[in-house]
Amino acid sequence: MIDRIRRLKEQKNAVILAHNYQVPEIQDIADFLGDSLELSKVSQELKVSLIVFCGVRFMAETAKILSPEKRVLSPVPDAACPLADKINTRQLLDLKNKYPDAWVVSYVNSTAEIKALSDICCTSANAVNVVRNIPVKQIIFVPDKNLGWWVKKNVFQKEIIIWEGFCYVHEEFSLEDLRKSKEACPGAEVMVHPECRAEILECADYVVSTSGMLKRAKESPVKKFIIGTEEGMIYRLKKENPRKEFYSLGCPKVCKDMKKISLKDVLTSLEEEKFELELEAGVIAKAKKAIGKMMKYV
Ligand code: SF4
Repeated sequence: MIDRIRRLKEQKNAVILAHNYQVPEIQDIADFLGDSLELSKVSQELKVSLIVFCGVRFMAETAKILSPEKRVLSPVPDAACPLADKINTRQLLDLKNKYPDAWVVSYVNSTAEIKALSDICCTSANAVNVVRNIPVKQIIFVPDKNLGWWVKKNVFQKEIIIWEGFCYVHEEFSLEDLRKSKEACPGAEVMVHPECRAEILECADYVVSTSGMLKRAKESPVKKFIIGTEEGMIYRLKKENPRKEFYSLGCPKVCKDMKKISLKDVLTSLEEEKFELELEAGVIAKAKKAIGKMMKYV
């Protein structure tokens, strides 16, 4: 199957982009691996016309928004992000009406339509920096309450209205998990994703995005790490740091949608060139503006 995927990629001048949370066999065949924004930036620079995006829907949408001239395929179109779906356009419009002077900051884990209604986007890596530099005092932050809390804790000068969305995967990490992991792994550095609950963020050594985890794991003199994010990330951390040890914070936490894509789906997607992602031109133009504004803080 892997040989057929490779041949088809060559014949069709296509690339496979995969998110850090994908299953190991997809990570291994990907041309590029990364977080959603890294992959979208890569897709902009590539000289190909066909992209197979192994991730959830909002990630494929972001690639399409940044490269509308390219064809973006989602091997499993119903792989969605429950966090991104925690707010809809009606709810955001109501908030905008209630706080007409506020800027809307949307985490990149949001739908294309929410991005199109936003003043600026942010990632988990640059959210604090983005909010700190916004020229108004009042901010509507959507859709993740935990990342919103982290931003609020680090930016005092703003009034931040936080939408109560959350990622069910990161929400599962508990203080009890953390206590047991630290006991089992004394001296390990604790790195957690900012989508974890506030009490976990308070107790971690590092609150970082997945790209931040990779950077820290390489730079740190420490040999053992406790990781508070989706399990797929641990495969990549181990692969790129074979002399170091990585343990999940508590039992492994898995994103069901991220794991929907199999090698067979990738092969079918390439063979039959499906399922192509379509977005309205108006949505693309507005969302691109919001993503573009945050690029100077990446
Ligand atoms: S891990 Fe959470 S934020 Fe990431 S795709 Fe899954 S549900 Fe969405």
